[in-house]
Amino acid sequence: MLGYSFSAAAGPLPRDVVAEVSDACRDWRGLGSVLALSFVAEDYRELQQGVETRLRRLLAIPKQFKVLFMAGGASAQFALLPLNLLAGREAAYVDTGHWSRRALAEASRYGKVRCIAMSDERFGDPDAWDVEGVAYCHVTSNETADGWQFEAMPVVSVPLAADMTSDLLTRPMALDRPALVYAGTQKAIGVPGLTLVIVHESLLGQAHPATPRVMNYGAQAAAQSRLNTPPVFAVFVLDAMLRWVEQRGGVAAMAAAAQRRSSELYAALDCSDGFYRASVARAQRSRVNACFQLHDPALSDAFVAQARARGLSGLQGHPQVGGLRVSLYNGTPDAAVATLLDFMDEFRRAHG
Ligand SMILES: *Cc1c(COP(=O)(O)O)cnc(C)c1O
Repeated sequence: MLGYSFSAAAGPLPRDVVAEVSDACRDWRGLGSVLALSFVAEDYRELQQGVETRLRRLLAIPKQFKVLFMAGGASAQFALLPLNLLAGREAAYVDTGHWSRRALAEASRYGKVRCIAMSDERFGDPDAWDVEGVAYCHVTSNETADGWQFEAMPVVSVPLAADMTSDLLTRPMALDRPALVYAGTQKAIGVPGLTLVIVHESLLGQAHPATPRVMNYGAQAAAQSRLNTPPVFAVFVLDAMLRWVEQRGGVAAMAAAAQRRSSELYAALDCSDGFYRASVARAQRSRVNACFQLHDPALSDAFVAQARARGLSGLQGHPQVGGLRVSLYNGTPDAAVATLLDFMDEFRRAHG
């Protein structure tokens, strides 16, 4: 049985990408296995340069931005942002759910943090956010656990720092002013181990003196992210994935696919006579992580178990949020969505 994972924690890779990576695990360019590729080898440098060039092309990243290849996951960035950017000032954090709260809690260990809460009356209007005098304003573009997504990136008068771990390369982004974007690659675009940081050069050079050197953005930028060993294998997988994205028509094609897949799923939820209930209001629904509940939450375990028996895994909601969740990342095949929708229809008929 061909299984499909809808896990939020790790996105599927397209079959062609897996085949290419498997071959390279045996041998790459006559250099032996890519699993043992040296980061000081000329071939690795070329590979990393190629990834950067392709990423710049796909996301239209202006030349004033540095692209860093870091380790430690997005969670390490929660601490590295204040260490690198705060310089004794305050930061603003927009609270949209689980991950933004984690980012805020970590940042508040390093400095003063101002919270912009969804309950604030003027939350919907970024112009009204109180960001006066802050070093940066942090947003989580897509709340993986809650299924909440900014429809468009907010524009603010201070540098925006965006956690795009679950939606980088699933939508276009415009970087036309000082900003920082970071994303672990294991969800939408690769495997665990690599975190991309895309940072405007004007934000470098103000790190707290106690910042570990390998976690200092400026120092890593000056060393082409090779101050120490970068996550070589994860960079290799990202390269294969970016070439796949490019062949499929780039970020616009990824965004269209995300829109199409998620619309089909939400339509199925909305047309189920209340059997399935989407957790998020229409305007903020994520195109990558769709959260919902069953009209009778006691059926959730049966839903998950029966889906699993059909080869559909990873449908539990985030442990701290509950409910059910379908994650649709770049590598999710259309057949996975079709199979899931069939199953959901059957389950509803059996229990509705
Ligand atoms: C998964 C996730 C994280 C945490 O990523 P790690 O690589 O486990 O540190 C942070 N932010 C968002 C939005 C996520 O989806």
